[in-house]
Amino acid sequence: MSFVESEERIALRKAVSEFGAKYGHDYFIAKSRAGEKTTELWEEAGKLGYLGVAVPEEYGGGGGGIGDLAAVCEELAAAGCPLLLMVVSPAICATVIARFGTDEQKSKWLPGFADGTLKMAFAITEPDAGSNSHKLKTHVRRDGDDWILKGTKTYISGIDEVDAVLVVAIQATGPVLVVVPTNSEGFTHHQIEMDLVAPEKQFTLFFDDVRLPSDAVVGSPDQGLLQVFAGLNPERIMGASMATGSARLAIGKAVSYAQQRQVWDSPIGAHQGLSHPLAKIHIEIELARLMTQKAAALYDSGRDKESGEAANMAKYAAGEAIAAAVDQAIQTHGGNGLSSEYGLASMLGMSRLSRIAPVSREMVLNFVAQNSLKLPRSY
Ligand SMILES: Cc1cc2nc3c(=O)[nH]c(=O)nc-3n(C[C@H](O)[C@H](O)[C@H](O)COP(=O)(O)OP(=O)(O)OC[C@H]3O[C@@H](n4cnc5c(N)ncnc54)[C@H](O)[C@@H]3O)c2cc1C
Repeated sequence: MSFVESEERIALRKAVSEFGAKYGHDYFIAKSRAGEKTTELWEEAGKLGYLGVAVPEEYGGGGGGIGDLAAVCEELAAAGCPLLLMVVSPAICATVIARFGTDEQKSKWLPGFADGTLKMAFAITEPDAGSNSHKLKTHVRRDGDDWILKGTKTYISGIDEVDAVLVVAIQATGPVLVVVPTNSEGFTHHQIEMDLVAPEKQFTLFFDDVRLPSDAVVGSPDQGLLQVFAGLNPERIMGASMATGSARLAIGKAVSYAQQRQVWDSPIGAHQGLSHPLAKIHIEIELARLMTQKAAALYDSGRDKESGEAANMAKYAAGEAIAAAVDQAIQTHGGNGLSSEYGLASMLGMSRLSRIAPVSREMVLNFVAQNSLKLPRSY
């Protein structure tokens, strides 16, 4: 582990950054506003191997780690193309299947993750459980060799564009992860109207006694809890990376505007009322990036527990950094900050999302208070 990234990682960042610039923020906003997907971007990124950098080589992937995938996600976001499904499909789903799946499950799913031709959503959140995963009610039960799944999930991203969804369900001995093809009988979904400017849509899912084959459960059913935790750390690392990438984009826009715009004798960027907040947020973004890279390095070296603490801290820091970055970028632009032309107001929803999902700011603070500081639990 080192304080500087490897030559390979730096080269990967540069290549992805150049690739992302071919599409750019205007493309991303136009697609989002038109209700369309960024399919060509996803497919090209898949063909170039960027979505599969962390999939083992024997299944057609790049053989890298979550740190590489996080670098791809961050650079695409910094280029104006934050891909929400990267946080779930290649990060949680592929990682969990690669770590815990049977040989058959790996052969079935990993090649599609490696080239991006397969997309999988992830569903843990439930309407009545929210942040309290102890209250999850979606359950599976055995019926001969099959499994029967029943329950409801909500705020699940991208169901209209994925092949399957990895569902966290409860069974007699605790949680299990179940792969549910989106065309399964008894599986329906309902779109939630959102004011986010993003190509991915959000859905409530209904599983009405969905019958699934024996191999729908990932790996061994008694390893479910371990699998859930193994998936949540990459999710937080990726969420943090997408946030720091988007924060870099917002601050970049603010800095270039502050250098050009002049309403007194010098550019507005000369006024410390504007330059200091931008400098402060730049530092906060760099600190969040450093913690994200630390969390990824710990995860990739198999230190799950330490990675969990770092991933939570990174996710918190990145969420605060992007919320501050977009807010200050809008302020720096004056009235233009709210115009469509400058593309900043369209980032507001996503900048707030980073404080809420995949884990809220308050739940991270609870985690740190209880685990890092050993303070008593209030709930
Ligand atoms: C755009 C979007 C995409 C999403 N994509 C997915 C997805 O693909 N898959 C998926 O499974 N989920 C997804 N989610 C759900 C997301 O993970 C949840 O919204 C998030 O975990 C918070 O849960 P909640 O919304 O139920 O809030 P609640 O749990 O109801 O919390 C509401 C508020 O209360 C606070 N709170 C709750 N408990 C405590 C406590 N003990 N102490 C202090 N404060 C507390 C929370 O921090 C929050 O501020 C997505 C959400 C959004 C908005």
